Amino acid sequence: MKSADASRLVVRALSDLIKIDTSNPPGKEDKAVRFIEAMLKKEGIESQIYSPQPPRANILARLKGKKPGKPVVLLGHTDVVPARKDVWLVPPFGGVVKDGFVYGRGAIDMKSQVICLLFAFIGLHRQGITPNRDIIFLATGDEETAGELGIAYVMEKVNELKSASFVLSEGSTISEDDGFLHAQVAVAEKKVCQFMLKAKGTGGHGSMPHGDNANDKIIRAAARVISTKAPLRPIGLVRRYLTGMLRGGKIGGFRFASLKEALVDKRFLAYVEGDPHLNAILRDTVTSTMLESGEKVNVIPTEATAQFDARILPDASHDAFIRRVQKIAGPEVEVVLTGRTDSAVSPYDTPYFREIASAVRSLKGDIPVLPSLTTGATDLRHFRNLGIPAYGFFPITMTKEEQKGMHGLNERISVANLMEGLAGTEEIVSRLAALTPP
Ligand SMILES: [Zn+2]
Repeated sequence: MKSADASRLVVRALSDLIKIDTSNPPGKEDKAVRFIEAMLKKEGIESQIYSPQPPRANILARLKGKKPGKPVVLLGHTDVVPARKDVWLVPPFGGVVKDGFVYGRGAIDMKSQVICLLFAFIGLHRQGITPNRDIIFLATGDEETAGELGIAYVMEKVNELKSASFVLSEGSTISEDDGFLHAQVAVAEKKVCQFMLKAKGTGGHGSMPHGDNANDKIIRAAARVISTKAPLRPIGLVRRYLTGMLRGGKIGGFRFASLKEALVDKRFLAYVEGDPHLNAILRDTVTSTMLESGEKVNVIPTEATAQFDARILPDASHDAFIRRVQKIAGPEVEVVLTGRTDSAVSPYDTPYFREIASAVRSLKGDIPVLPSLTTGATDLRHFRNLGIPAYGFFPITMTKEEQKGMHGLNERISVANLMEGLAGTEEIVSRLAALTPP
């Protein structure tokens, strides 16, 4: 296919998929699934829809391999986080293509990658390539909430997914930092460890303050919690990542001979505190997100709560973390764990990592390809926790600024990035098709 034609088709497919509003909640993915089903059908590829509670839906298609078992899974999700129309410059579900960009909710997370994975999957079929093992294309719903009606449901229905040899999905990209290019391949994610502070007190009239006010207790405890930072603790994979960055150039304008040297440098440590990504991959973090209390300005409430979204490093324990928070918060409040995920680290000394690295280098030149840690949760944890190597990587080049657009206002992807993503995904997928799982 000529590249102009390919570009037109990919842009149109992404724009059409963005037009299908799959905001989650409520996450009506069935129309997006039908759209993918139709694209596959046109190519003569059968697919299976898994609908736990219509209109919630997931879709799976397969290219038969030379041998059965141990499939490679190309995984995407079709749901998106909600968007408020009134504050966007373009309609978030308009699929607007303008000035070389495709705009809309999901342009980055992750309808663009879903389209690239789908095109690469269809490409194999069109070229008549029989992969060594089955290649499964799987688009789930419900990723932006708990995944219960998405990946967890499909894994229960399709047992074979639990013996996959490898999974490719979202999580990281090629990053451009001060002109320094490096690819980050996510091999792990932080664990969700959300908690609530609860305080009880005595009610009363606002005109007569007393010493047993639930709000005061929450405010004091929350202040202690947010001002006590966990120590910096580079786990093995983060060490490997940052060392690779230093070898290739610098981190945030700093040059050091080693990570060890960087981590004792006062200016570097101050930089880490101000860089949300570096900060998040180097320590357990706590973000205050919800406060709830009070009904009337002159009434002292009897109960108050504050909720926190904490993300802990993959080797940290939820129990130990919550015990530590309780100690910091003090006896005035109760600390309750409200949400958790577990997440193992995938090995990165694997043929899959090496194939991705050489695919990247064949397209981008000799740039560092480094394992990385995702700060947010993805569907990949369901595979990693079973010991299946599962990587998050979309081969598009983004600056730090562009990466922030993910769940934000006016989410967009450039047509150039989209085409880069397609070329890279095709290169990776054709290599995966030729691999024999160990
Ligand atoms: Zn996503």
